[in-house]
Amino acid sequence: MTTSTLVPKEVLGVYRPGSAHMVGDGFPVRNLFPSNELDQAVDPFLLLDYAGPQIFGPTDHPRGVGEHPHRGFETVTIMYQGAVAHRDSAGNAGVIGPGDVQWMTAASGVVHEELHEADWARKGGIFQAIQLWVNLPRSRKMSAPGYQTLLNAEIPKAELAGGAGHVRVIAGSFQGRKGPAHTVTPVELYDLAVVAGHRAKLNLPDGHNTSVFVVQGLVSMNGSRDAEEAELIVCRRNGSLVVIEAREDSRILILSGQPIGEPIARYGPFVMNTKLELVQAVEDYKAGKMGHLS
Ligand code: MN
Repeated sequence: MTTSTLVPKEVLGVYRPGSAHMVGDGFPVRNLFPSNELDQAVDPFLLLDYAGPQIFGPTDHPRGVGEHPHRGFETVTIMYQGAVAHRDSAGNAGVIGPGDVQWMTAASGVVHEELHEADWARKGGIFQAIQLWVNLPRSRKMSAPGYQTLLNAEIPKAELAGGAGHVRVIAGSFQGRKGPAHTVTPVELYDLAVVAGHRAKLNLPDGHNTSVFVVQGLVSMNGSRDAEEAELIVCRRNGSLVVIEAREDSRILILSGQPIGEPIARYGPFVMNTKLELVQAVEDYKAGKMGHLS
């Protein structure tokens, strides 16, 4: 089947980020959702924070977010510039730099810290990253925590037709290349570079919620208005064809996934199905059941 016979995903809208706020003292973020109240339209994704780009001066005291808990979902950190060190109560640790991805499954609960990596912090520089929260289905919210470091070198790269650019496959498959991320529910996560004046045509699963976040440049998708840096184009789930037109050399993140379709109850770093489960999460954290950093 050629792409010309595929049904395009219809654009729901193009969304602007909220105003910048600091997470801890190291992550100057602008939020795309939940602040835009996209809810069902971005299910299974719960949160997208865009950090930077911002210059940090040299320091011997790495900035970031100290010990804090999560339960009920996964945090996925995608690095563009800078470096982040993670350490958690399940005994996992890792450092990610440009092109790397950290996929942390909080599930039943972890306590972790996310800091600028010490050597990078001593030199300082431009910091730029995305943190995405991916929901877990009810049946997996209380599973054991997990952690995956996905290094740049392990993330396969596929060339787009006609010299239009390339796709780095973090999760899901693209043109026969499979991303290294192990996901609980079906998710596609692609890092794309698209050359100015070119089109990228992609076929994503019908029924998956698909969005495009602009990291750099200016793009339209399936006839949307042009979206600039830090804007998010959101599609309806029906259809499969996505055509991205780059007005400038662009870097974009495609996030797509099968909706979970279960009730969502949120309280800060906890995302469960019911209020009662949130109360339990707070109690379990206070009782030390999510562990501590050693
Ligand atoms: Mn965290």
